[in-house]
Amino acid sequence: MSASPLVNASPELLQDLVDANHILFNEGVVDAFGHVSARDDRRSDHFLLARNMAPGSVEVGDIVEFDLDGKALNGEDRRVYLERFIHGEIYRARPDVMAIVHSHSPSVVPFSIVKSVRFKPACHMCGFLGHGADIFEIRDAGGPATDLLIRDQHLGKALADSLGSSNAVLMRGHGSTVVGPTLKQAVYRAVYTEVNAKLVADALRLGPVEYLSLEEANAALAIEKEIERPWQFWKAAARAARTK
Ligand code: MN
Repeated sequence: MSASPLVNASPELLQDLVDANHILFNEGVVDAFGHVSARDDRRSDHFLLARNMAPGSVEVGDIVEFDLDGKALNGEDRRVYLERFIHGEIYRARPDVMAIVHSHSPSVVPFSIVKSVRFKPACHMCGFLGHGADIFEIRDAGGPATDLLIRDQHLGKALADSLGSSNAVLMRGHGSTVVGPTLKQAVYRAVYTEVNAKLVADALRLGPVEYLSLEEANAALAIEKEIERPWQFWKAAARAARTK
């Protein structure tokens, strides 16, 4: 199935979004759940996100165009992700954000439920974590009996408020949402958010952890200029895994 002509984005962005889905699956950030979106590169008030499906199986024809309210503009007959409001409300609040990854990557979830340990950057690949990630407490916005999912615009806006000007926010008992100024950087940050969580959990077993200072974190952001190296490597690995 080919993409509907209603999708305005460049063919290059659509292909990169397909590859982003496959990379995030192959690198263990998403499984059957989780999603990645890109802001439409020809219309900043629209974004692109696959229909409701496992990211590892996404093809170009599965990409749906949404407005910031989370309304599907093509392929409305197709089921869409319940949590698309994460994406719409962050794009609305953050003009600098061009791509978003929402995942339940397993090493990060413990940091969402142990509120006494702040999730902070522990290695030089993770400067984007800056002063650390806040935890979004859905009870504050949705009351005591939600299913923890971002099911509507109200919860999406509350999550965007919790993210603030940061690049990552943890979601209590659920996962995380990571943003970037490009799709490739958002993917990189999602991969390294999971890596950082593994490193810190290992280090905490050894003793007190020395994190990057905010100044070090900001300086370490320079490594994202090398984004093509991991992107091309991960893309090749994901494609090889799919043809096995
Ligand atoms: Mn989720």
